[in-house]
Amino acid sequence: MTTKSKLMLIVTIMLLGLAAATIVNIALNFREYSIKNATQKAQMAASMVKDGITAHMVAGIMDKREYFINQISSSEDVEFLRLIRSEHVIKQYGDGFDKENTKDAIDEKVLKTGKSVEKITETAQSTKLRVTIPYKATSDNTVANCLNCHNVNKGEVLGVISMEFDITETRNSGMMTVLKILGINLLFIVVVLLLINYFVTPYMKLFSNMQEGIKKAYSGDFTHQFISRVGGDAKSVVNQMNSLFRKMQETFGDIKYNLATFIPQGTALSNDPLHEAKTIISELSDIYKFKKTIELDGSKEEVYGRIVDILKLKYHVGHFAFFEVNNITAERRLIHSTEEKTICYEKTNKNALNCRAFRTSSVTISTEFPNLCKACLATDINYVCIPFYINHDISLTVSMTSDKIEEVNLMKKNVSSIKHYLEAAKPVIESQILMEKLKDTSLRDGMTGLYNRRFLEEIIDKIMSQANRNNDTYAIMMLDVDFFKMVNDTYGHDVGDKVIVALSKILKSSIRDSDLAIRYGGEEFIVMLHNASDEGMMSIAKKIHSEFAKLSFDVGNGQSLQKTISIGIAKFPTDGDSIWKCIKYADTALYEAKNTGRNKIVEFKPDMFKSGEEF
Ligand code: GH3
Ligand code: MG
Ligand code: MG
Repeated sequence: MTTKSKLMLIVTIMLLGLAAATIVNIALNFREYSIKNATQKAQMAASMVKDGITAHMVAGIMDKREYFINQISSSEDVEFLRLIRSEHVIKQYGDGFDKENTKDAIDEKVLKTGKSVEKITETAQSTKLRVTIPYKATSDNTVANCLNCHNVNKGEVLGVISMEFDITETRNSGMMTVLKILGINLLFIVVVLLLINYFVTPYMKLFSNMQEGIKKAYSGDFTHQFISRVGGDAKSVVNQMNSLFRKMQETFGDIKYNLATFIPQGTALSNDPLHEAKTIISELSDIYKFKKTIELDGSKEEVYGRIVDILKLKYHVGHFAFFEVNNITAERRLIHSTEEKTICYEKTNKNALNCRAFRTSSVTISTEFPNLCKACLATDINYVCIPFYINHDISLTVSMTSDKIEEVNLMKKNVSSIKHYLEAAKPVIESQILMEKLKDTSLRDGMTGLYNRRFLEEIIDKIMSQANRNNDTYAIMMLDVDFFKMVNDTYGHDVGDKVIVALSKILKSSIRDSDLAIRYGGEEFIVMLHNASDEGMMSIAKKIHSEFAKLSFDVGNGQSLQKTISIGIAKFPTDGDSIWKCIKYADTALYEAKNTGRNKIVEFKPDMFKSGEEF
């Protein structure tokens, strides 16, 4: 129902209510008044009949009373008039005329009680007023002393006078008055409604015009022009609304444009752009906080940890795996997985090109095409895999999984939002990679690619505490090329460099991932074998020693050169309680090898110290 109809309905109900109350009030009052008036007249008429009868008695012409009674009975409004004799009078003077014995219950009651009775009988067609008054014996009046003729006591009822009047006309005239008032009221109501309609309609039109404009504004369209046919305050409100909307249109356009710059893909969350803007701003604020936090993180791994937290805590992803992929070798490294095993084939880790998301650089969703990714092992689980390119060297892959379709739908919905976080992390990860590279450069020897002495100094404390905690052992070998100076001196530094590089390659290929090879000085190397047995240690030392000896270096002019190395070995913690001590002992053993003919492997023995050298 429109507001105008509501207003009209309320006014109509109120006016009708007022009219009804007025009419009922008037009708009741009028009825009461007319009944009272008719009753008074009827009582007066009955009294006059009583006085007339008394006059007949006094004049001794009671036998002529019938004429008098008939005259009054025949008057227009009198329905009937009858005199009823009491038992005393009947006993003393007989029954009287017929009518004087015809009595009803009311007559009986008045005869008995001596009290007047008035009664109204209403039907649809007529209204009758019945008045019955007692005729009591009096003795005050000397002219008409009832006791003179009647054998009764004073005050005793001698008879009753019953009259009935037709007061239908009085009722009808009352009804007519009420109807007239009703007509006037209805006319008034119609006039009021017409006036309301005339004055309210323009405001209602303005109101619906405003509603239309606000509806459009809700969906981001502030181009609506408000129009008013009424002047005054309404006109000024309309002008203000129009200028507000113009301003909103300009400002909102700017906000939308700027937000699109921040989040290029946009986040179509609802049809309400204001709500969308609010959501984007709050997302931007979250991403800004995330970015500020990861900027202070110390390593790439810490940043990865935060991305994992965002997936768990913000997006409530229950099952996912997070990978780092080497773009050059296509090798994949698992950073985090919520499950013990990921849904991907193991071979995908060796060659990420098996992963469809990585290979196609596009989000891969299994609900669209089942078995979309050939690297997926699971058949009853859906996946949403997001690839994300960080730089020339690495990419990331987030692989979210679920067997519940609602969860997968939520994941799909969150893809662009998750990408915003990865986008924010991208420069930080890039700079962390750069930092790691720089650090790696400063900790590695440029010529051989092996770790340098500085690296050993930095890592030694960590290795020591880890070794003490886990009861790890290290076999420490100190290696030095025999008569190397002569190579430089005879064939030049280039040949010397080749010898150094060749030895470093043998070292690299002879050790495991958990072992360390370090270029300690010019042509001096340290190899640390982690948890190696004595036999293992010796076999590696011998292997390095013999493989190097087999190498032949081309020194030009068709000539070649072969070199040997000496190796000194000490064992941590068997020989010394610190790694530095053991390095020193390995050096002592190397010295021993050099002094006893070179080209040999010598294990440290405590008696190798000259007195006072031990520390
Ligand atoms: P020894 O058998 O006693 O070890 O005799 P050696 O001649 O090898 O003596 P030493 O180990 O002291 O010689 C080290 C030489 O290595 C001195 C230096 O000129 C040379 N050298 C150090 N670094 C480099 C390098 O990077 N390239 C080349 N070509 N030579 C280097
Ligand atoms: Mg040497
Ligand atoms: Mg040396």
